[in-house]
Amino acid sequence: MDRTPSTGHREALRRLRRVMAGSGSAQNRLDEIVKVVAAEMAAEVCSIYVLRAGDVLELFATEGLKREAVHVTRLQIGEGLVGTIAATTQRLNLSDAQEHPSFSYRPETGEEVYSSLLGVPVLRGGRPRGVLVIQNREKREYSEEEAEALEIISVVIAELIAASDLLGPDERLHARDSRLLGPERMPGTMVNEGLAVGQAVLHTPGVSIRQIFADDIDAEHDRLRDAMSAMHAAIDVLLSTTDLRESGEHREVLNSYRRFAEDRGWLRRIREGIDSGLTADAAVQQVREDTAARMRGVGDPYIRGRLSDLEDIATRLMTHLGGGVSMQHLPEDIVLIARNPGPAEMLDYDTSRIRALVTEEGGPTSHVSIVARALGIPIVAKVDGLMRNVDPGDPVIVDGDNGQIFVRPSDDIQSMITETLGAREQRRSMYASMHALKTVTRDGVPISLSINCGMLADMQWLEETGADGVGLFRTEIPFMVRSTFPDLEQQTAIYRAVLSQADGKPVHFRTLDIGGDKQLPYLKESDDQNPALGWRSIRVGLDRPGMLRQQLRAMLHAGSGRELYVMFPMIAEVAEFRSALAILKKERERLDRNGGNAPTELRVGAMLEVPGLIWQLEALLPHLDFLSIGSNDLFQFLFAIDRGNPRVAGRYDVLAPSLLSVVREIVRKCNKANVPVSLCGEMAGHPLEAMALLGVGMTSLSVSPSQFGPVKAMTLTADIGALQAYMDELLASPDHSLRRKLRAYAMDHGVVLES
Ligand code: PEP
Ligand code: MG
Repeated sequence: MDRTPSTGHREALRRLRRVMAGSGSAQNRLDEIVKVVAAEMAAEVCSIYVLRAGDVLELFATEGLKREAVHVTRLQIGEGLVGTIAATTQRLNLSDAQEHPSFSYRPETGEEVYSSLLGVPVLRGGRPRGVLVIQNREKREYSEEEAEALEIISVVIAELIAASDLLGPDERLHARDSRLLGPERMPGTMVNEGLAVGQAVLHTPGVSIRQIFADDIDAEHDRLRDAMSAMHAAIDVLLSTTDLRESGEHREVLNSYRRFAEDRGWLRRIREGIDSGLTADAAVQQVREDTAARMRGVGDPYIRGRLSDLEDIATRLMTHLGGGVSMQHLPEDIVLIARNPGPAEMLDYDTSRIRALVTEEGGPTSHVSIVARALGIPIVAKVDGLMRNVDPGDPVIVDGDNGQIFVRPSDDIQSMITETLGAREQRRSMYASMHALKTVTRDGVPISLSINCGMLADMQWLEETGADGVGLFRTEIPFMVRSTFPDLEQQTAIYRAVLSQADGKPVHFRTLDIGGDKQLPYLKESDDQNPALGWRSIRVGLDRPGMLRQQLRAMLHAGSGRELYVMFPMIAEVAEFRSALAILKKERERLDRNGGNAPTELRVGAMLEVPGLIWQLEALLPHLDFLSIGSNDLFQFLFAIDRGNPRVAGRYDVLAPSLLSVVREIVRKCNKANVPVSLCGEMAGHPLEAMALLGVGMTSLSVSPSQFGPVKAMTLTADIGALQAYMDELLASPDHSLRRKLRAYAMDHGVVLES
């Protein structure tokens, strides 16, 4: 054959089109397809394996291998080269296949004489449906064009498998292990708490392609162009709407995402697919499946994120081409099941119907998690095998609290969860009814309860909970979801929007707390040996004063005409606070000089997270308007325990007498100096821990919004005088933890502890 591969596959597609248009059973067509592909791609062997129930790949058709192997040779997913291609959804291109460690010899096929092998997965909706393989005797490496050609042809086979009678209806639905159709608990990673029940809606399910082969190639190019502009226009509309999507984070995410749509390599490959005879839909589908498959092989989270965005765009593009996911006939209670959806995709659904989000990949900082968290739904990520094991319409329970889901749950689990949900609902209405109550303890001590926020969308909770303010606004979150550093205007807009939503309630803006476990995608990752103790937080701010200055300037602009609270994180000594304060003062002076409208009141505080500062607190307090204890880091440093390391998590307890004694000491010093002190670490959000904090003298806590109700209920039922007397005695105890004693105390004294 002297044909070049690219003209070869174009010709192959032309001939395949005739095969598909002709009559005959699906089996006949597969038999024809392997002949055409072998001939047109100059291969001595072409074989098609189809995935059957039980995760078995069966040889359905071959040209070149022994005919008696058809419907006899079977491999498990993951077994042999064919099984590996299906398991990894990656192509294999081998000049000496038998040397490959996964090669599994099947004597009935007679394949021992063939050295080279090129195999691609046959994918549909991100799932393997089969494998297409060509082989040659000579040891040769197949070209990229040949591999792409085979991938294009695999689209035809995927459609044939999906639409035909090759497999019985049950098998077609569940071309996977039938054992998995029973109830199943699938563990994952908790991203957002909560419990939800609903029906699975598979995001990017088998997207339907109405026609594979183009009747008119020019017309298909036109359709692609039209769909691209329609998609861009739709994204523009999304960007300009004014509700939830208006918030800075979503806008930026969507903007960066739109830029990826202009990725040239990606478009080129779609156009090539059309040139070779596919319709625009089929060409986009092919590139989409390929992007999804490539993503699995990439370790770098940044590149994976970009690939995921490209896959997301391809799905949207298909919708604009007239195929795509139908948004009609979706259940009222959607549990969205997705591999790694793009952030905008969540907003395509009627978000009021989405009860939970479950992803196979992703994680707490993935863009979509941030958008979903703003919607206040439970999220579980990193669920292995999710897309393979959940079918559309499956009942799913999402247990965000414990990072797990139950698919097709048994009646027992269902009724247990329904009861829990009922109880939570009752509690929620109880918390709602407390909204108007003043937060005072049973013995009349007023307690200030605020919430922690990190996004504009979180600000809605201020009104909903009736909190006194925002005790901690983590400004790094808006920085983390962007693809570039936000400039002065963008930062000012974020802070201004936050303040206007706060409607006069105080918002404690914490300056950038990056480094450690919080990396910005556009800032070179630090190679610190020990990031928690490394170049992070205020250390970055003081070493990069330009960055800090810009942030403070944005805060001052946003706070014009209002009260502005600024706090510096991870202060370890007085000198650090004074340096940060000096920068703020300079900015304030600059604003005054330029005749800018300054905040009516500027209050400046520090976070106490580094133990060393406790012994310099008396010297620091005269400089402070307030102090905020960051117990997450303080606990980590006091006990020398990495807060992100699961091997040591649980080794020590925040209710250790030592930590509580430290808090009592800090409170005493602050009270003496008349400086308000608050605590905003996670422990404040757990009712028992919060009770202990009141017991050592704290009167101001800031908690995550979902924990506001439980902490308020505890506060209303606790008698602080009695509790403090009890705890004073307890703190001298040699116990590992005071948890048991404090819980017993709460029970004996009618303190409500429910979360
Ligand atoms: C803390 O350390 O307690 C704190 C509130 O800061 P972050 O959790 O953001 O480090
Ligand atoms: Mg901290």
